[in-house]
Amino acid sequence: MNYSTTGADHGPELPARAGDGTRAVRAGLPEPVKHEPTLPGPVFAAHFHLPGAPTGPYTYGRDENPTWTLLERAIGELEAPGRDDAETLVFASGMAAISSVLFSQLRAGDAVVLPNDGYQALPLVRSQLETYGIEVRTAPTGGDAQLDVLDGARLLWIETPSNPGLDVCDVRRLAEAAHAQGALVAVDNTLATPLGQRPLELGADFAVASGTKQLTGHGDVLLGYVTGRDAAAMAAVRRWRKIVGAIPGPMEAWLAHRSIATLQLRVERQNATALALALALRERPEVTGLRYPGLPDDPSHTIASQQMRRYGCVVSFTLPTRARADRFLDALRLVDDATSFGGVRSTAERRGRWGGDAVPEGFIRFSVGAEDPEDLMADVLRALAESAA
Ligand SMILES: *Cc1c(COP(=O)(O)O)cnc(C)c1O
Repeated sequence: MNYSTTGADHGPELPARAGDGTRAVRAGLPEPVKHEPTLPGPVFAAHFHLPGAPTGPYTYGRDENPTWTLLERAIGELEAPGRDDAETLVFASGMAAISSVLFSQLRAGDAVVLPNDGYQALPLVRSQLETYGIEVRTAPTGGDAQLDVLDGARLLWIETPSNPGLDVCDVRRLAEAAHAQGALVAVDNTLATPLGQRPLELGADFAVASGTKQLTGHGDVLLGYVTGRDAAAMAAVRRWRKIVGAIPGPMEAWLAHRSIATLQLRVERQNATALALALALRERPEVTGLRYPGLPDDPSHTIASQQMRRYGCVVSFTLPTRARADRFLDALRLVDDATSFGGVRSTAERRGRWGGDAVPEGFIRFSVGAEDPEDLMADVLRALAESAA
């Protein structure tokens, strides 16, 4: 079987107008070979036969693996369809992917702009960057406030929609301003998934994401990726993966690829139910601070509708007290009290329990799964009523 990374064995070209479902089920598949499976199984190899000159692609398992190659193609076809200049690299987790971009692109004396309302591990990254002499500036995602602290920065890190606050910024506008002064732009695309938003088309240099969430969608895999269009920058990201060794196992990579086949189905169902849930919660007097970028009157909706094709499966809102929020979570039967999001089984959590996000005590981050919408809504409304006591 030929897994060459040159693309020579890449599966048949899809019609240019192929829809998201068609692209998802075919993403990254190799050219059909008689007696071989459609999606070849995971290749478990620490090293590969390598007589003579040690030329790639497959030499040692920390550098390349055929199962990654197919997954990287699949993600690349969704993040950057039709772009020959884009390259995708997969990582052990979303944080491995994020760190690979930040730590490979920044040097002592550089300045970087991060969101101050982004993923909860970013403050840890911030203090690590600072120990290396990198200046870290932060600003909120909403209102494109990162523009105000961009001056002279080497890299702009955007997370939109932000997790868990679901604020949205104008990626085109920020990317233009950053590029005008020579800064690189990375977008954390975890919440939207590539079917919801394509950062490279909006002007970003890197789309970075945790594949742990809706991309793989079953709550059984940790994975991350970086898709980039600057060859030199991506060479540095690849080198970082090699020296840190933050690589996915072949089984995880294969599970991820298998899961991507159903991405469009999952996203359609989960996101449609998320909108329905947001509309139902809007009618409830005990719910405040309701956020969903797909709600027509959400503060994020105008920009979101200009740059997103789908609005995600996460809804956030606040219940009056911590105790009320705990009772609500307790009363849910179809929704697991668990962190993370994007899975086929709905989860919710009181986000304040972690202590890292600037959210009210009663703040709930709700991840809508693939249950029948009527069942899920009935469960939520019943739990809201029961938790009132
Ligand atoms: C979960 C998450 C990450 C980190 O991903 P892991 O796979 O858990 O390392 C990064 N960014 C966002 C927005 C996330 O939700």
